[in-house]
Amino acid sequence: MRYISTRGEAPVLPFDDVVLAGLARDGGLYMPESWPQISPRDLQSLQRLTYAELAARLLALFAGPAIEEAELAMLAEDAYRSFDGYPDVAPLTPLGGNLHLLELFHGPTLAFKDYALQILGRLFDLVLSRRGERITIVGATSGDTGSAAIEACRDREMLDIFILHPKGRVSDVQRRQMTTVDAPNVHNIAIEGTFDDCQDLVKALFNDAAFRDRTRLAAVNSINWARIAAQIVYYFHAVLRLSTGENRTLGSPVAFAVPTGNFGNVLAAYAARRMGLPIAKLMVGSNCNDILTRFFASGTMKIGPVFTTLSPSMDIQVSSNFERYLFDLYDRDSASVVGLMRQFRETGAFAVPAERLQQAGETFTAVRCDDAATTATIRAIYEETGKIVDPHTAIGIAAARSAVLPAEMPVVAVATAHPAKFPDAVEAATGVRPSLPERLAELMQRPERYEVLPADAGTLRKTIIGRLGGNWGTGREKGASS
Ligand SMILES: *Cc1c(COP(=O)(O)O)cnc(C)c1O
Repeated sequence: MRYISTRGEAPVLPFDDVVLAGLARDGGLYMPESWPQISPRDLQSLQRLTYAELAARLLALFAGPAIEEAELAMLAEDAYRSFDGYPDVAPLTPLGGNLHLLELFHGPTLAFKDYALQILGRLFDLVLSRRGERITIVGATSGDTGSAAIEACRDREMLDIFILHPKGRVSDVQRRQMTTVDAPNVHNIAIEGTFDDCQDLVKALFNDAAFRDRTRLAAVNSINWARIAAQIVYYFHAVLRLSTGENRTLGSPVAFAVPTGNFGNVLAAYAARRMGLPIAKLMVGSNCNDILTRFFASGTMKIGPVFTTLSPSMDIQVSSNFERYLFDLYDRDSASVVGLMRQFRETGAFAVPAERLQQAGETFTAVRCDDAATTATIRAIYEETGKIVDPHTAIGIAAARSAVLPAEMPVVAVATAHPAKFPDAVEAATGVRPSLPERLAELMQRPERYEVLPADAGTLRKTIIGRLGGNWGTGREKGASS
């Protein structure tokens, strides 16, 4: 598969280059040149595979010929072996009626981001060791992404990872999930400032071309196509499991409800649909940061202020992966995407005409769920089923429950985090304080390692160069860096 930029001006790249590329050089995002197709008969042949085998089979469609299925099979097996419930790492739980929960919190850091990042960390190592190159990952986190990225990159030979978090502004569990990781290539830095300061520092490093090339800076956020590709797997897995479990015909339509922030997770579901998976509807759940809900209602994407909510991983206004959907919605006309994105940057808004909005509405519906409704949903699910869900998951469930769909159609709500990651919100709703799984129980006793730095790019640069030691300057300059 070859990859093209949504903005049409960056070089076309094979998969292994896209893994390392991050943002395209024209500011766009990489997309596969075409959607691989899975016929109903292909779908049948996938039914008996384990999660890891399915991952290898589907990823091969995106990674070939640069990376072969046999290599992906070893990599996927290794990535998912440590998950709870292995080999069934993405179980489907009935919630009554036609509603099901797809549990994606059985990885090392208890959020769905593990499912893709555990693959991405290993892909980095594979591609870099072939080339004899190193990269330096630098990222800012307000919570979940940092720990998932650190777990995925720890002990990888060809890279160092630096994660910046705002000192004193992440929860104890979140900080400890990062700072108790004892690996020589993991570097935690607490910045004396806010999350925005951390992000500004990361941007400053990426904008320093000399530093960026010498350290071969790379990103792990969901603009990386490999993350989206790895997330497609669990949508296939869910549809395959639904049809074995209930004697439904494989190929009859299913709806998914996805709690959404950066539009990465739901974009993977959209990709699965384009590949032929029988998905009738995608329900996008948002918290009070409802820019997407407003877009799907009106056709206008208009930026607003960011509110703090019970679902902090969705406290986002600009969903960067939406650009990938827009590219398809405009029949892959990159000039239209460039125009809309420029308008958005300059005025904080863009609008699509009625016929495009109607087309989007054939795939997506969107639901806003404020904190009160989130709490009410956590409580209702607990009372009705005895199941405890986290606030992000509750928003997906609320979206699923508001769906207007044929009565017999299964609806799968995506559970994106373990409730013990957000114990306060869960306790307030149910009276029950969820506990961490056994393997994380001594998290609060393990020693922490992190360095405290002022919010100053020069100091950060020096610290990174010092930590890289002999590896400083060994990242060979390549065309697709960023
Ligand atoms: C990151 C995250 C989300 C949002 O996912 P996107 O891919 O950004 O839409 C939802 N829930 C949890 C728990 C997350 O960590």
